[in-house]
Amino acid sequence: MTAPDTVRTEDLPAVVIGAGPIGLAAAAHLVEEGIEPLVLEAGPTAAAAVREWSHVRLFSPWGEVIDPAAEKLLAPTGWTRPDPAAYPSGGDWADDYLQPLADALGARVRTGATVTGVSRSGRDRIVDADRAAQPFVVHVTHADGREERLSARAVIDASGTWSTPSPAGADGLPALGEKSTADHITYRVPDFTDAAVRTRYAGKRTAIIGSGASAFTALAGLADLAKAADGGGTKGLWILRRGMSGATFGGGEADQLPARGALGLAAKAAVDEGHADAVTGFRTEAVERTPDDRLVLVAEDGRHLDAVDEVIVVTGFRPDLSFLSEIRLGLDERLQAPVDLAPLIDPNQHSCGTVYPHGHRELAHPEQDIYLIGMKSYGRAPTFLALTGYEQARSVAAALAGDTDSADRVELTLPETGVCGGAGLFDAPEQEEGTQGCCTTPKPQLLQLATPTGEPEAGCCGS
Ligand SMILES: Cc1cc2nc3c(=O)[nH]c(=O)nc-3n(C[C@H](O)[C@H](O)[C@H](O)COP(=O)(O)OP(=O)(O)OC[C@H]3O[C@@H](n4cnc5c(N)ncnc54)[C@H](O)[C@@H]3O)c2cc1C
Repeated sequence: MTAPDTVRTEDLPAVVIGAGPIGLAAAAHLVEEGIEPLVLEAGPTAAAAVREWSHVRLFSPWGEVIDPAAEKLLAPTGWTRPDPAAYPSGGDWADDYLQPLADALGARVRTGATVTGVSRSGRDRIVDADRAAQPFVVHVTHADGREERLSARAVIDASGTWSTPSPAGADGLPALGEKSTADHITYRVPDFTDAAVRTRYAGKRTAIIGSGASAFTALAGLADLAKAADGGGTKGLWILRRGMSGATFGGGEADQLPARGALGLAAKAAVDEGHADAVTGFRTEAVERTPDDRLVLVAEDGRHLDAVDEVIVVTGFRPDLSFLSEIRLGLDERLQAPVDLAPLIDPNQHSCGTVYPHGHRELAHPEQDIYLIGMKSYGRAPTFLALTGYEQARSVAAALAGDTDSADRVELTLPETGVCGGAGLFDAPEQEEGTQGCCTTPKPQLLQLATPTGEPEAGCCGS
């Protein structure tokens, strides 16, 4: 239901889309700023997306995944802060922090509420007249099928990217046959502790397409299964679009997040010990089903791989922008991240995982008072960390409250990946190491960026 005419826009709630770590943190910061949040979560519980990867252990310790404003909100509830040096699983993150936080926010969090559209009241995206003075309207479909139209003074979209994984096809479109062979394809890291999952992969030949932390986790999981009593004959086939280089397995011991570095080392061990074979320079064009119900991956260069039983596609995520089509967004044409944020996180330049401090200004759009934050703010860039999102949430909440000084005072120091130089993230196959990438040849536009004191920033590897 829309607000009656007597309700002033500033008295309406700020709608937060998504009760993930960053949406809930945004709500906590809004409360701190005296703005009433209304968090709409599509899933049946808070942190629904994180719960889907409950079995995966974070590479960040507890101390780096708890938001300061959230902690203040939790303090009076008797909540016990977990050991900051310990590493939670996704399930721990949800159970021991995110759910208590949602409980502390109480009726401000509504679950089973999927946002299907956002616009300005009475204005589609082409209408200029008096646009900024109109409240936002947010269309919601509830779990029971009921539709609702809510009014909001501002919208913070923290809906993540989990529901829109990228396909196997190297051109960003589903490979030919990818949809019709979906019964043998998963787009998530399987939970190899689950009995049904073990049965699905044990003794089978599985292709893993992707080169990031999720691919490392899947490779290591398959190797563990291969070594287990019930996993004899399990074999992985690791499909990489690029060639192998020193950076293929991440930063290893040079990673400032040791657990993130260890993922790459575990993947390397899986290959070195023969539990997985690497196939490089392979750009998947088609997936063909054999008469005995196995799958053959075909590359753009015509290569056909030996048949596999299962395929794990971990090629990243992309933002779902469909419900924002009536909003005037300013997004980078490549990354689908806010235009001023994109150059700071472009994986073609920034393999290190560092990002310049950024807040409400870099996250702004032509449409006022709407922000994409959290995982979704990075568009297709893969290096998002919760710490970044918490600082985004703080800055945006302060900006909405009119506290520009606080909103502008963004500070962020992120642990580096230890992968510096090299050919960036994507497909410049045989570049000599160190010839491209943020540490060696920073782009002029990045060199122009200055710290608040006016000093030029060090190269993105921080040296
Ligand atoms: C396997 C994995 C491991 C990671 N490990 C780390 C780590 O160790 N350290 C670190 O800093 N970061 C890590 N990250 C990255 C990042 O911190 C997490 O992905 C984090 O969950 C992002 O938070 P978010 O709130 O932006 O998005 P999400 O957690 O995805 O939350 C978004 C929420 O929005 C809801 N939603 C989606 N669409 C709608 C809609 N239309 N209407 C209403 N609700 C909607 C979803 O159900 C979901 O609950 C990891 C990510 C993954 C996938």
